[in-house]
Amino acid sequence: MATAAVRIPQQAISLPIKGLAKGPQIFIHEGARQALERRLELAFGGPVQLGVTDNLRRMVTQTRSSGRLRVRLHMMFLGAEERVKTALVAYVVHADRDASQVVGEFIEQNLHRIRASRKAPGKLVTAGQVHDLEGLLHDVNQRYFAGTVSDVLITWGRKTKPRAAGQRTSIKLGSYSATERLIRIHPVLDQRWVPRYFVQYVVYHELLHHLVPEARVGGRVLLHPPEFQRRERDFQQLSRALTWEQKHIDRLLRAS
Ligand SMILES: [Zn+2]
Repeated sequence: MATAAVRIPQQAISLPIKGLAKGPQIFIHEGARQALERRLELAFGGPVQLGVTDNLRRMVTQTRSSGRLRVRLHMMFLGAEERVKTALVAYVVHADRDASQVVGEFIEQNLHRIRASRKAPGKLVTAGQVHDLEGLLHDVNQRYFAGTVSDVLITWGRKTKPRAAGQRTSIKLGSYSATERLIRIHPVLDQRWVPRYFVQYVVYHELLHHLVPEARVGGRVLLHPPEFQRRERDFQQLSRALTWEQKHIDRLLRAS
């Protein structure tokens, strides 16, 4: 795979992380990095240099020398919710114990984003005949996550052999592989009669799988835990998308 097989369009505010020659290039959100750096500076009361990395063994490291604070963070912190960022600042600057707990839990919940180490097999294809997945992912990322989700890849899935009519009874319109950090979208959605908002919904749903880990409750694994369901309702055209799906599921099954 070419290193340029990047789905997040390379805006001026995103900078590639250095030292990742192999595999897809990961982009960090420079605006989010600077904002966090400023918060650290305010709390620290002196100059702070914030570096953002991917695949760290240590999620948060810091060194202090001659009045300057240097912090290195895993990129997932840039997209963390307010509560976690506040705790992160308190933990880094004041070694606050409660804050350390919050940061620790956040890391624990997001381990799946760090372990993602397997290279996505084959070539990623984002341009379709009708729908452009890179553009769709970009829009979703901007609208719902302020552009902070940059450690995920997307591709159209492979076309499977057509089956005899009526043979297929279910279809996976999208999937997310945590080990590859890769969203796959079923190629049956790349058709003129499939509206853009519906494909966008499928992308949004799979992106949530990247962001919200599965939960274990009493030995059961919840793929769509309460937090997932709550955040899924943030999708602005959710009911429209679900209605469309119901109406067209038979046609999707036949077409796949
Ligand atoms: Zn799901």
